[in-house]
Amino acid sequence: MTRPRLPGTLNRRHFLAAASAALLPAPALAQTGASDVDVVIIGGGAAGIAAARQIAGAKRSYVLLEASSKLGGRARTEDAFGARVDLGAGGFARSEGTLASSAQGAGLELIALPSGRRLFANGREVRESAYDAFAAALGTARRDLLAAVEGGKDVAASLALTGAGPATTTPWAATVAQFLGPLGCGRALSTLSALDLARRDALPDDTTSPAGIGTLMEGLGAWLNVQKDAPVTLVTNAGRFHTVSVRGQRTPIRARAIVLAVPAPVLAAGAIRFNPGLPPRLVAALRAIPAGHLEQVAFLLPGNPLALQPNEAVLTKAGTAPPALLRGRINGSDLHVLTFGDAPARTIAEKGAAAALPLARDWLRANFPTAEVAISEVVASKWGQDPLIRGALSAALPGQGAQRRVFADTVQNRIFLAGDYVPVSGWGTLGGAFASGEAAATRALRLFGDGPA
Ligand SMILES: Cc1cc2nc3c(=O)[nH]c(=O)nc-3n(C[C@H](O)[C@H](O)[C@H](O)COP(=O)(O)OP(=O)(O)OC[C@H]3O[C@@H](n4cnc5c(N)ncnc54)[C@H](O)[C@@H]3O)c2cc1C
Repeated sequence: MTRPRLPGTLNRRHFLAAASAALLPAPALAQTGASDVDVVIIGGGAAGIAAARQIAGAKRSYVLLEASSKLGGRARTEDAFGARVDLGAGGFARSEGTLASSAQGAGLELIALPSGRRLFANGREVRESAYDAFAAALGTARRDLLAAVEGGKDVAASLALTGAGPATTTPWAATVAQFLGPLGCGRALSTLSALDLARRDALPDDTTSPAGIGTLMEGLGAWLNVQKDAPVTLVTNAGRFHTVSVRGQRTPIRARAIVLAVPAPVLAAGAIRFNPGLPPRLVAALRAIPAGHLEQVAFLLPGNPLALQPNEAVLTKAGTAPPALLRGRINGSDLHVLTFGDAPARTIAEKGAAAALPLARDWLRANFPTAEVAISEVVASKWGQDPLIRGALSAALPGQGAQRRVFADTVQNRIFLAGDYVPVSGWGTLGGAFASGEAAATRALRLFGDGPA
């Protein structure tokens, strides 16, 4: 076993590697002028960080432009109640892409999350047979979705389940619908494409960082050539190159390729202007995958009244309280985090802690009526209200599932899209975003004759 390391620290070998990599952009910059680079990466979330790392590794000049004051995007670790807590992604699937190996290569510590989730109904953990019934209902729902898709119909996911039968008749059908819809995609199944959901097939999260996933992402971007507080306002096709304008900077940056790694709803809202405009086919595809909403609510439960192991996930049977997923005892602390989806999440984003506190209290009272739990304060995320994010993840509307393929197209010969919305399978995840950033960078590098054709 390796000796535990302080989260976020680099050892000497990694420090030297990082420091020399940071020097890479200099030669190419000197040749072409201070505001010319091979690649501009727009957006410093998982996808943008992965892309920048790849471009830096290929010894090409680049700059990563992030509108906010922090790297990480929807992976953000905040201070709450004297501890560090993730208010965005709280884990990822180790075997998805290279995120885990990149983190380990950078000397950043990872730990395993408990496998599966505990199921509770009426304040008690369910029996083994109910776990089996839930797993069977989930399996049936997934088969129903696939059957609907194989039949060539991209209906609403709710219709795919109803049409294919048995899942809707089990006592766990409503819980499965909540798990796949509001808690999985931030929207009700009736607003989701069966095709998009069937193809999602995301691997379960089994890994996290003891320092927080946001801190992990900042660590992965620590040595990159980054401009923070640099919101891109305009991207112009100037023939042999593109220019990228940043608010508050007089001179645009000239780039031979662009990795565009901002969230889909930000693009759909027209928050960045393009001259000429984005292709109508792409604009239509972006509108076909509106945002789903997830918000996190963190609070303290001293004394472990729910009797949970560190980082255990709890799902409760659908009932009267708005659905939520609980992650208990974050890294062994008294901190617990509830994830709400869809309408309650939108309310939390609009009203903040004033709405989140009663929602968390109601959920605890309804699902753990006998536990001694009293919470007086919460810290809540507001992804839906952040103009740089505008939601938790993007999922296709019924009938629009095939649109996601459009995001693989190169735009104006040198703009490559990256982000969690880009992959046709495994979309809406941190690992998927990281992998899509690497893939976009690989395609950008091919423009210069780098890498395999
Ligand atoms: C509450 C919540 C819980 C989640 N839980 C999980 C989980 O447990 N596991 C999992 O795998 N995934 C989870 N996710 C999803 C995961 O966080 C995302 O899929 C992933 O972080 C997306 O990365 P990205 O790089 O595509 O986009 P982002 O992380 O959104 O990065 C985009 C970046 O672009 C920047 N930007 C926007 N506009 C501009 C501009 N004009 N100029 C420059 N920069 C700009 C933004 O500031 C942002 O930093 C969760 C998401 C949320 C919201």
